[in-house]
Formats: sequence, structure tokens, C-alpha cells
Amino acid sequence: MGTKNGKCSTLMFLQCLALTITVMFILIVIMLFVLVTNDRCKCHPQELVLTERRPFINKQIIPKSLHKLAVLVPFRDRFEELLIFVPYINKFLTAQQVDHNIFILNQIDGYRFNRASLINVGYLHTKNDYDYIAMHDVDLLPLNTNLSYAYPTQQPFHVAAPHLHPRYHYEKFVGGILLVNREHFGVVNGMSNKYWGWGLEDDEFFVRLRDANLNISRPENITTGTHNTFKHIHDRNHRKRDTIKCYNQREVTRKRDRQTGLHNVNYTISSIKKVTIDDSPVTILNIELICNHKLTPWCDCSEKKPDVKQIRKL
Ligand code: UDP
Ligand code: MN
Repeated sequence: MGTKNGKCSTLMFLQCLALTITVMFILIVIMLFVLVTNDRCKCHPQELVLTERRPFINKQIIPKSLHKLAVLVPFRDRFEELLIFVPYINKFLTAQQVDHNIFILNQIDGYRFNRASLINVGYLHTKNDYDYIAMHDVDLLPLNTNLSYAYPTQQPFHVAAPHLHPRYHYEKFVGGILLVNREHFGVVNGMSNKYWGWGLEDDEFFVRLRDANLNISRPENITTGTHNTFKHIHDRNHRKRDTIKCYNQREVTRKRDRQTGLHNVNYTISSIKKVTIDDSPVTILNIELICNHKLTPWCDCSEKKPDVKQIRKL
């Protein structure tokens, strides 16, 4: 009995040992599995943190500009220049992170070209949604990336300054490209509507600014000069300037105009087209200006021979 019992207890001991080893093995396998899967999980929170951070980092890199710019381009029959201008200026302003839209102010009536009235119309059309305007010739491209188109807080900013413009170098020149904030353009009652044909409307605007005690600031520390700061795409034979003077145009347009401006520009916008040129968006306003023939009969010189001085010149 004693021996049989002994055998029995040895067998039981071995069985218990085997069971214990099996259980331990299973436990170790489970622990290892848990450890391995736990390790994988450690990556997960890191990935989460990264994806959470990314939009935050992006916001830091691209700050949204505080002000919106309406680029106002007086326009008629300058198609080749337009195709170059729109993609170019869009890229230039995007690189400066200027929030902007381009408006082509296309004069479609039969009168002589009126750059100033078109700008008045562009301003009235955009003033509720934009903080400042750039009066921008279609044929003048800024080449130097240091030319700033930022919001002009204190006073108008003349980008195409006389010491940089390829053609116009007189001190009072404010044409080509001029940035004006919404309030200042309103304060001076915009531009005169009396300037049909080429020239002098920008000089009259200079006097409006001066009368309102608005000085003009200009680019400083620009290392390029009159030949390489801007590209002026203007062939004078192909794009002839309308310098004819008729009726009493010469006399009237030499004076500061206190009769006309933003408040009485007469026009209709016959249609608005949104298009893209090489993927750059642009809004075209088809504008019919209406001429007050009593006030400015020179909006149409076809009925009248050019004045005597003009004939002498020819
Ligand atoms: N412009 C136009 N069509 C015209 C005349 C003028 O589109 O028939 C616009 C165009 O934006 C041009 C600007 O008015 O760049 C100034 O006219 P222009 O280039 O003749 O003047 P410049 O500054 O060269 O003397
Ligand atoms: Mn030109």
C-alpha cells in the first residue's frame, strides 16, 4: 500500500508540475502578446499629436492678411497686355500674401477713354468688400519683389514712383500704380470725371490729395532703377495715346475740378463676367460711361475739328 501510494503521489506531482508548466507557458505567451500590442499602441498617441499639430503649424506659417485689396485696372482694347498682366500680378500679390481680387474696368461706350471715371466706378463697385484699391495700369508690371502692395494706413502709397517709373519722372506724378485706402479715396471724392482722352487726370488727383493734406509715400531702399524696376509693355506706335484736345478741354482740364467726382460719376454696368486667365481669376466689369455733353463736350471730338494749337502741332 505504502509503495503504491508513493507511486501515486509521484505521478500526481508530475501531473501537477506539467499542468503548472503549461499554465505558466500560456501566461508568458499572453504577457508577451500584451507587451507587443502595447508597444504598437505607444506609436498611436504620437501620431495623434502630430496630426493635431499640423493645422496649428500651417496657421502659423500662412497668416491671413487683415486687409483686402481691389486691383482696379482701367481698360479698353489692350487684350495682349491683359493676358500677360492678370497671371503676372496674381502671382506677384500671392507671393506677398496680399488678399486681392483683380477687376478689369472695361469701357464699352463710344466716348473717348476716361481712366479716372472708370476708377470711380471700380471703387463704388468694390468699396463694401475691400479695404483698399490699387489704381493699376494694365501695361505696367512690377519686377522688383521688394515693391510692397501692403495696406496704406496713413497715406496713399505710390508704387510707380517717379524715381522708378520707366517714363515719368516729375515729382507730382501719381500715375501708373497707386494704392489708396477706402477712406482716403472717399475723403477726396475720388477722381474728376472731366478727363476724356489721355493725360492729366492723375495730376488733378495729386492736387485733390494735397488739398486734403494727404501726403504720398513711395518705395524706399529699392536698389533697382528706372529701367529694371518695372516692365512697361507699351509700343507707342501700336498703342497710340489719344492726345487730341477739342472745345475748351485744354483750358478746363488744367484746373482743379471741384464739380465732379465719386458723387456724380454717371454710368451703367451692363454686365459682369468672371473668368480665369491661366488659372488666375479676374472679374470684368463692362462699363458704359454717360457723358454730360454740356459740361464736357470733349468726351466726343469727332464732330469738332481739333483746336488751332492742335492743328499747328500736326
Ligand atoms: N488704357 C486702356 N486703353 C486705352 C488707353 C488706356 O486700357 O485705350 C489704360 C491701360 O490700363 C493703360 C492705362 O490706361 O495702361 C494708361 O494709359 P497709357 O498706357 O496710354 O498711358 P501711359 O502711362 O503709357 O502714358
Ligand atoms: Mn502705358
